[in-house]
Amino acid sequence: MTTQQGLLIVGEDLCEQLVGRQQAFEAIQSVFGAMASGGGRNFPVVREALGYADALYGFKSGFDRDGQVLGVKSGGYWPGNAAQGLTNHQSTVFLFDPDTGRLSALVGGNYLTALRTAASSAVSIAHLARKDAKVLGMVGAGHQSTFQLRAAAEQRDFEKVVAWNPHPDMLPRLATVAEEIGLEFEAVSQQELGAQADVIITITSAFEPLLMKDWIKPGTHLACMGTDTKGKMEVDPDLVAATTVFTDEIAQSVTIGETQHAVASGALTETAITPIGAVINGDHPGRRNADEITLFDGTGVGLQDLAVASVAARRAAETGKAQRASL
Ligand code: NAD
Repeated sequence: MTTQQGLLIVGEDLCEQLVGRQQAFEAIQSVFGAMASGGGRNFPVVREALGYADALYGFKSGFDRDGQVLGVKSGGYWPGNAAQGLTNHQSTVFLFDPDTGRLSALVGGNYLTALRTAASSAVSIAHLARKDAKVLGMVGAGHQSTFQLRAAAEQRDFEKVVAWNPHPDMLPRLATVAEEIGLEFEAVSQQELGAQADVIITITSAFEPLLMKDWIKPGTHLACMGTDTKGKMEVDPDLVAATTVFTDEIAQSVTIGETQHAVASGALTETAITPIGAVINGDHPGRRNADEITLFDGTGVGLQDLAVASVAARRAAETGKAQRASL
């Protein structure tokens, strides 16, 4: 796929055609396993305010030796884009040949970011939620939320979706997807959501807790996906401390993830947090009983981006659909 045939260019449309939820699930499950066994590692994240166009810009990179994937996702957040008809989050993945360092593919990162983030919580549900989970709770109704709902719905035999969002006018997009996939939908209060849901996904930009400890019933699995920056918070730190905590990467979880607040206050120790890859690899039992509350802190790591981009590049090469360029 590299030197002789030139650089592959895989645009956003092609990514949507070539990479689906199942492929993303498998790629993310595999890379989480590699991270836990030491076969894959993420490099320090760079994220800076540009001081221009109000933009945040950065890099997430890593190397998966097991999967032979090396690269970087570059991009960020441009708040003025929506007014120009563009997505505020913009990113591109650069993949390199791990044997030579040559650039092998440029892959659009916008669709794939939503897909891999949804695959991450789906992997957590597959490994940690009770098998008899019937009600899926959604907190958040932004761009990521429909990807999250579709991927989660495939992991258990759900019958119903209950949803709450700080901006209720955004909820119809979730109702539409729930209807499309044949699930009953109910907009509820936060307390009611906690009382009904067996699995809860949080995917907002909140800086204050939206779910409190006393509202969550025994046996619930929470996938906290929105907190990916210092200062953000979606659930009560007392709730975090009362759960069995899993994450994609401990270093990110305790600094920019949902556990940052409980760890800072001393309510949760870093050593109590388990990488989900350990469960995937069979080195940790995961959920131990039906009443345990499990929490997955999905912070979003570079290797997730590279994993799905690599699927896109491979499929583009196989199908002959990608543009090629020489360097
Ligand atoms: P979006 O802008 O489309 O939607 C934002 C969501 O957060 C909506 O539900 C909105 O009602 C809610 N919200 C906005 N401001 C809020 C506030 N002050 N308090 C509480 N809720 C608020 O964003 P999106 O693309 O759906 O992303 C949602 C979150 O997920 C963001 O925080 C984003 O950074 C995060 N994210 C995480 C990962 C990851 O890998 N963990 C990946 C992508 C996005």
